[in-house]
Parts: sequence; structure tokens; C-alpha cells
Amino acid sequence: MKLLVAVKRVVDYNVKVRVKSDKTGVETAGVKQSMNPFDEIAVEEAIRLKEKGIATEIVAVSVGVTQAQETIRTALAMGADRGILVETDVAVEPLAVAKLLKAIAEKEGAELIILGKQAIDDDFNATGQALAALLGWPQGTFASKVEIADGKATVTREVDGGLETVELKLPAVITADLRLNEPRYASLPNIMKARKKQIDIVKPADLGVDVTPRLTIVSVAEPPGRKAGIKVPDVATLVDKLRNEAKVI
Ligand code: AMP
Repeated sequence: MKLLVAVKRVVDYNVKVRVKSDKTGVETAGVKQSMNPFDEIAVEEAIRLKEKGIATEIVAVSVGVTQAQETIRTALAMGADRGILVETDVAVEPLAVAKLLKAIAEKEGAELIILGKQAIDDDFNATGQALAALLGWPQGTFASKVEIADGKATVTREVDGGLETVELKLPAVITADLRLNEPRYASLPNIMKARKKQIDIVKPADLGVDVTPRLTIVSVAEPPGRKAGIKVPDVATLVDKLRNEAKVI
């Protein structure tokens, strides 16, 4: 079974994000970028399926600038077999990413596609769902457990207030939630080996997809700063302040 994993290059989760002075987005120049954390979980799950003998080949796909090859290399160092970069300088929106992934999935004959539940830069949480809809495949989103057997994927989903288990007939789309697994670190030998693995570079037009953005960002602003807190000497003062100053009780 061939498996596709989508990996996005995003601002590293440890970086304190700053808004550009013209308010059109966040500063990315000179800022550390890494694989979207949920995509690391997706890659890990794919590798585990290969280790169990369920997946035969893992193809890591990224849509983005030339440097997104580094993100693909990380997936290859973790254990993916080869990569495809859909190279573009455009900030591609979820629907267009989904169209590109659909084209690749069909070309590759993939039977399972694993994505992160959400990219931590734009927080869309839409690509996996759009992809499943475009392909007409079932989807198991927010997966915290995945089991594959007899042409079916059993996916435990993290939903509000509990867990839901769904059964999907393959081919299917799965999006990874935080508790699905703990991604491995790539070992040095595997990082070296990954250098030799193949990354094909294609353009959106090669896949017949128009990636022109449909959304216009009107403004990006930082959240308002928080006021400094105070210490109160006793409970009576606290209650008084909550009642008469904050007026919340
Ligand atoms: P989003 O819908 O943007 O929150 O992204 C959900 C998931 O879709 C991510 O965790 C990735 O697995 C995948 N994805 C979104 N954008 C890209 C991209 N440009 N390249 C590769 N994968 C992507």
C-alpha cells in the first residue's frame, strides 16, 4: 500500500511570532522554519505503518518554496522513502493544496494519505477535509489512534468531550492529532542516508492546478498585551476587587 504524507514548512513552534510592520502577515525573513508539528506526527504514523508491514512506500509531499525541500529531507531522515516538492512562491491556500495532493495521489496510486490536523501558521484545519471531499474518499480527522486491517482503517478521533471511533474503507484520508504518537528524532546515519533519497520537483501547472489565492488578508494584528497582575493580601480583598472593580461576581 502506497502512502502519501503531507508536510508543510512553517515558522518553528518555538519562535515568538512577530507581525510585519505593514500588517500583511507575520515576519518570516531570518526566522527559523521547521516541519509543522502535526505533520511530524503524520510522518511518524506512516513510518509505523511501514514498520508493521502495512505500508510499502511512503512519499512525503510539500507545497511551497524551494527551501521546503529541507522539510521533505526531515521526513526522509525520519524514514519516508522519497519526496515530492510542488514548488511555488505563492502562499498556497488549503483548497489549492488539496487539489495538488489529489493530483499526486491519483498519479501515485496512493491508498492512504496522512496529513496534520492543522498547520500552526495559518490554523486553517481544512486541507485534509477538502482533500477527502475532492477525492470522494472517507476521512478520519483528529486521529489519536489508527489501525489498518482488511482494507479498512479504524480511526479513533478526539472530539469535544470524548473519543469517537470511525471505520473507513480504504482509500482514505487521515489527519493526525497531538496524541496519535510521539514522533522520533532522526538518527545521524538516517540523516546521512536521507541525503541520497530522491526528491522530485514539480510546479503547480504541471499538475494542472491554479494556485492563485482566493483570500485577501485585510490585516494581521498581535493580540492586545495583558495588563500586569497584582497580589492581594487576603481573600476578603480579592472578593471585594472581583465584585467592585472587575464586576465579575
Ligand atoms: P491546514 O488545513 O492549512 O491547517 O493544514 C492541515 C494539514 O494539511 C497540514 O498539517 C499539512 O499536513 C497539510 N498541508 C497544508 N498546507 C500544506 C503545504 N503547503 N504543503 C504540504 N502540506 C500541507
